[in-house]
Amino acid sequence: MARSDEKATHFIYEKKEDIEDLYMLLIKKAEEAFASSYSPYSNFEVGAAALLENGEIISGSNQENAAYPSGLCAERVSLFQAGARFPNVKIIRLAVVAKRRGEKELRSGGPCGMCRQVMLEYEQKQSSPIEIIFKIDNENWIRTKTAASLLPFSFGKDNL
Ligand SMILES: [Zn+2]
Repeated sequence: MARSDEKATHFIYEKKEDIEDLYMLLIKKAEEAFASSYSPYSNFEVGAAALLENGEIISGSNQENAAYPSGLCAERVSLFQAGARFPNVKIIRLAVVAKRRGEKELRSGGPCGMCRQVMLEYEQKQSSPIEIIFKIDNENWIRTKTAASLLPFSFGKDNL
């Protein structure tokens, strides 16, 4: 069973088996994206999958580079594809998974700060929430109701 916190900004799942099928579908798509991870430096594979309102699922994986900052996280590979290919279609939810190469066990897949900033921007652009699903520790998974809840006291387009 999922339990929500007091403010109900998110749900916590105490084990993967508790996650509902509609979310598991997206998690599986994110896991499939491990296969395209280009991560020769970190050996840390990340997969992401975004479900759009039109039913499209846009997956992405982390893409590293010898000049480290030139690489890009799986979440932004996925979201930027969605933004470029379907600029007027809302993003419903995003699943993120991570693991070390050669291991089967998933690691915590909490998005980095820059990815959270990008999620927030798309959420504001489309004026509707984006759910974010990822593993937060050895057992627990989290599903936030919004991207904004992952980035409190944020800077966004309304600040300009
Ligand atoms: Zn990131």
